[in-house]
Amino acid sequence: MNTIIEKVQLTSDKSITFTLKENAINIFEEPQNNLWTFDLEGRLVGMFIDNKNYRRTLNNKYYLKLRFIIGEEHFRDIKQIPIDEIKPLIEQSHILIKNNQNRLPNVFHTPLAKILKMNSIFLQNSAKEFENIYLPISILPPDQYMSLVIQMTEGCNYNQCTFCNFYRDRPFKIKSTDDLVLHLSKVKSFFGEGINLHKSIFLADANALAVPQKRLVSGLELIHNKFPQFNDYYSFIDVFTGLKKSVNDFKKLNKLGIKRVYLGVESGNSDLMLFLNKHQLNKDIIELTHNLKKGGINVGIIFLVGAGGNKYSEKHLLDSIKLLEHLPLDKGDIIYLSELYETNSSYEKSMAKKNIQLPTRQEIRQWSTEFKSKLKKQYSKNVQVSVYDINQFFY
Ligand code: SF4
Repeated sequence: MNTIIEKVQLTSDKSITFTLKENAINIFEEPQNNLWTFDLEGRLVGMFIDNKNYRRTLNNKYYLKLRFIIGEEHFRDIKQIPIDEIKPLIEQSHILIKNNQNRLPNVFHTPLAKILKMNSIFLQNSAKEFENIYLPISILPPDQYMSLVIQMTEGCNYNQCTFCNFYRDRPFKIKSTDDLVLHLSKVKSFFGEGINLHKSIFLADANALAVPQKRLVSGLELIHNKFPQFNDYYSFIDVFTGLKKSVNDFKKLNKLGIKRVYLGVESGNSDLMLFLNKHQLNKDIIELTHNLKKGGINVGIIFLVGAGGNKYSEKHLLDSIKLLEHLPLDKGDIIYLSELYETNSSYEKSMAKKNIQLPTRQEIRQWSTEFKSKLKKQYSKNVQVSVYDINQFFY
């Protein structure tokens, strides 16, 4: 479907523009520059009101995205906003629809009716349905925030890294075929036309590629049958189980759509890795990355900037750069620098035990800027290098 744009001129300086796209509908109010975005089932995705940027998650939580400056550095933050404060802002868009829908072509009527139907009770019910289908979706890589998540597995099969809070609430589990089939049906029915907002499939949770090859292949085939519109698949991978797959296994997975997998390398410094209780070896990371690349699968390599604080910062940077020299990265690969500024009590305890101060956000930013500038020189434009702020993840 081509994008359809209809501008309703209310007065010489007041107008409302309705934009119907193949994946979403926008309402734009001028001169205030307020903008609401909905999926094609009428669920609010985000809004920009009075210069404030709000996001809604599928479990009906609302967040205000904030920016602040310390010194010369720009930082981002988020703040959860109570539903009562949000309701009038959503209502504002409903009033604009009600007052103007009769002036719009027929093609707008069904999607706008869906938005009007999604009052606060419907949004709450939609959130309940979402929570019935998914365990909390803890994190995705930044380039995958618009993926359709399929929880082929639950949790992390390792789950012992001191700094990581993502999957402490659940044991690792591979969904049985019956459970996966049920999950896929529920996902399809939940998203409805809202599925168009999603561009690819992300196999969750922490390391769906830990699923033994035969079962993984048949799981991917089930997903293809249910969602034939998606060709690109992504997933996290871990070294411990990733090495159980051969180059041929990766070739097969690539044929089935796996384009890139994301590996939490964290650091090239082995002392720091022991301190973080992530006992993976550089030689295994190198071998796994070579195997993946030979299999035609790109990689996203994630480093944890700030881990181990000042005590490790220098060795962390140097050894991580050294490790990268052994990884055959090229076009389509990404290096993420994840700034570790929000931690948990077990990580804080291990820092205190070693008498290491928790670094400030400015210190962490300084390290990540230094890391980034070294990488930019090393990779020119071939390999994308980006900061990964886990706090900015919404689903
Ligand atoms: S960092 Fe990765 S491997 Fe470690 S516990 Fe978290 S999800 Fe699991």
